[in-house]
Amino acid sequence: MTLTDKPMSSPLFPFDNTYVSDLPGFYAPCRPARAPAPSLLFLNRGLAEALRLDLAGQDDAALAAMFAGNALPEGAQPIAQAYAGHQFGHFSPQLGDGRALLLGEVVDRHGRRRDIALKGSGRTPFSRNGDGKAALGPMLREVLIGEAMHALGIPTSRALAVVATGAPVQRERPLPGAILTRVAASHLRVGTFQYFAAHGTPDQVRQLADYAIARHDPDLADSADRYLGFLRAVAERQAALVAQWMHVGFIHGVMNTDNMSIPGETIDYGPCAFMEAFDPGAVFSSIDEGGRYAYAEQPRIARWNLTRLAEALLPLIDPQEGRAIALASEVLDAFPTRYRQHWLAGLRAKLGLRGLVDPSDNADAALGESWLDLLHARRVDYTLAWRRLADAAAGDEAPLRALFAGQAGLDRWLQRWRERRAAEDAGASDAPGAEAMRRVNPWLIPRNHRVEEALEAASEQGDLAPFEHLLHALRRPFEEDPARARYAEPATGEFMAEFRTFCGT
Ligand code: AMP
Ligand code: MG
Repeated sequence: MTLTDKPMSSPLFPFDNTYVSDLPGFYAPCRPARAPAPSLLFLNRGLAEALRLDLAGQDDAALAAMFAGNALPEGAQPIAQAYAGHQFGHFSPQLGDGRALLLGEVVDRHGRRRDIALKGSGRTPFSRNGDGKAALGPMLREVLIGEAMHALGIPTSRALAVVATGAPVQRERPLPGAILTRVAASHLRVGTFQYFAAHGTPDQVRQLADYAIARHDPDLADSADRYLGFLRAVAERQAALVAQWMHVGFIHGVMNTDNMSIPGETIDYGPCAFMEAFDPGAVFSSIDEGGRYAYAEQPRIARWNLTRLAEALLPLIDPQEGRAIALASEVLDAFPTRYRQHWLAGLRAKLGLRGLVDPSDNADAALGESWLDLLHARRVDYTLAWRRLADAAAGDEAPLRALFAGQAGLDRWLQRWRERRAAEDAGASDAPGAEAMRRVNPWLIPRNHRVEEALEAASEQGDLAPFEHLLHALRRPFEEDPARARYAEPATGEFMAEFRTFCGT
């Protein structure tokens, strides 16, 4: 990776743009459209500080002009990245940033390289029939869900800023337009590899893989089988990520290959949602009619997407196709086991177990699965059930029992759970207690009715207070706090029966 010369005066953004300099031919330079009357609605000051941005001397008007793309910070080199992707199983050879622009990269306080990109900044060479714009509601939604994921400890892209453009965007009806500034470990996707495998030269796929390895898996750079190692590393990150999603009840909603991140972050928050009453078949996206991206399908879809990545990498893995397929298949076939190991480790923590009795046996998984069956049969709120199980570990079963109409199945299951925990206690004096369970079982998730309420107030009345209060509440998901109780309440059954999420297009 090359380093660009830094100007002498200290710029607002310490840009160091390797994608532009290392990968000519992989993007289209493109300017953001002019926003007529930008106003700053949200600025993530904590994140700005972590990114070493020097925003102190900037007033709101200057920040709004900058995050609207009207006055780009020094060193920004806006580009639209090329990518392809399988959308709901069908290959679209030409997607790309149709309404986003990468401004550049900065190295944050922890030495981690981060992309800074605008979303909703106007048409690009990849816009096809789209207007390149974004509506305010979906952009604020991305802020809320991304920050909630971050607070939950789940790898995610994050929002740095949101500005209202001052111009409406035409959807089913006119909506206020907005631009989100997004920060991600990179915007490399499975679909980026698919694009160059489909249109590019074999050398371009290699160039892209070498760039990705240098950026995300530098330990592999000198290894002889680095491309296979890269596939394994991407798969490992996805196994860990999807296991974390499952443990908080997160449903991405559009796990198309263009929305699967190479660094293993949750990206492209569209019609995503957190599950309330436990249902493995839960799907909220209005466009997912077949339930392809339902909650319980996510691990299987992750593997399917990784198979598409493997196909793009085959010529690099081994020049002899049969051998390449055999090697890649080994990695892909290991995925369910790798996923299950991440899932099981998370499950044990949620159950207050350490897997000490016999970490390799299936008893803990079976215990967890029968707990989930019970939640499903009784339509119990997923988040609260886990949280109240921590209270039960502390000796207070009443709040848990209050979530269940009938107690018979619950009694039997609690008996098994207590026995399992007691068996572990016999072998160790410091088995995870209620407090440790509370550190992995959140009290607060972004409840769909609260998210909708906040977005509606912002979009319809220009009132950002509900959004700000909700965002503030979501920053401490593991702390129970009566002052935030309204955010922890599940939505009514009627609300959830009608609830649908929409792509932000
Ligand atoms: P998404 O569903 O947001 O992941 O987007 C899928 C593809 O559609 C990407 O190539 C986007 O850049 C493109 N796209 C989404 N919305 C728009 C829009 N309003 N204008 C142009 N392109 C868009
Ligand atoms: Mg996308």
